[in-house]
Amino acid sequence: MRYEAPNSIESAIGLLAGERGQAFLLAGGTDLLVRLRSGFIEPDLIVDVKGIDRLNTITSENGGFRIGAAVSAAKLGEHKDVRKLWPGVVEAVELIGSKQVQGRATMVGNMCNASPAADSVPAMVAAGATVAIAGPKGSRTVPVEELATGPGKTILGKGELVESIFLPGRPPNSGDAYLRFIPRSEMDIAVVGAGVSLTLDKSGVCSAARVSLGAVAERVLLVADAAKAIIGTKADDRALEQLAAAASAACRPIDDKRGTKEFRIKVAGVLARRAAQTALERARKKS
Ligand SMILES: Cc1cc2nc3c(=O)[nH]c(=O)nc-3n(C[C@H](O)[C@H](O)[C@H](O)COP(=O)(O)OP(=O)(O)OC[C@H]3O[C@@H](n4cnc5c(N)ncnc54)[C@H](O)[C@@H]3O)c2cc1C
Repeated sequence: MRYEAPNSIESAIGLLAGERGQAFLLAGGTDLLVRLRSGFIEPDLIVDVKGIDRLNTITSENGGFRIGAAVSAAKLGEHKDVRKLWPGVVEAVELIGSKQVQGRATMVGNMCNASPAADSVPAMVAAGATVAIAGPKGSRTVPVEELATGPGKTILGKGELVESIFLPGRPPNSGDAYLRFIPRSEMDIAVVGAGVSLTLDKSGVCSAARVSLGAVAERVLLVADAAKAIIGTKADDRALEQLAAAASAACRPIDDKRGTKEFRIKVAGVLARRAAQTALERARKKS
């Protein structure tokens, strides 16, 4: 197994594209090294991107933020302006593992590992985040919800890597939130996760919303019907009940040791509603 630590994105792409055997990109390594040590993968090449300066920055862009693929969860959490604009995204990132894990783990690693239960992904999907992908044939931008296609699978082709995440700017009176259910208080995999982002107009009517669910399907879901249930309303109890019902209806979960299908379907509605309430409180505080 060869280990390479290039200092540019172009070199990283060249290494990945030129490898005939199995090549893996290493960011924080908190998923990759566990799979390696457990014998699930036998890489011929590991390309470590933590040393690439351009991938380690958080920059302002069009009222939002561009976050490099190697930025750790800890570094993101320390960024006051990101926290202020997207508190739900930061709270999701800060649920990943422990302080030690967050010192290494990246949001891009979280999404490229393509677990349907990845915590930061529903929050980013609710936020309308996109990723910039670079590869031997050029660059492209895709919404976060289109990156993973199933457990452990992404749309990335040979030699492609995710360069950055873009969290967009947002109007005043906006709020977001992420909640997950786990059987213990921390260090566990989400049984269900729910992210909600919404904007209120001057009269308190919800003018835009996005609702996302994790761990209830083969990949993280963007649930348009749940958002429709509150758009155009004052997000009163009736609208929130409809949002919860739409969230439950969108689930197609599996049964496993963490929860039955029925349990996940029910909890998805409850969490989506609670996340919407927190997002609403945050949006109202900003008015
Ligand atoms: C003790 C422990 C607790 C954890 N708890 C949680 C939790 O609560 N919630 C949760 O969601 N996860 C959890 N995880 C999983 C893991 O920490 C996260 O998924 C983390 O965000 C992965 O990021 P990373 O940078 O370490 O990824 P890596 O391990 O470096 O990479 C993960 C995958 O993504 C690929 N990859 C990485 N960067 C790129 C890129 N730029 N372009 C293309 N592909 C890329 C890698 O090749 C690999 O396949 C936990 C892990 C541990 C060890």
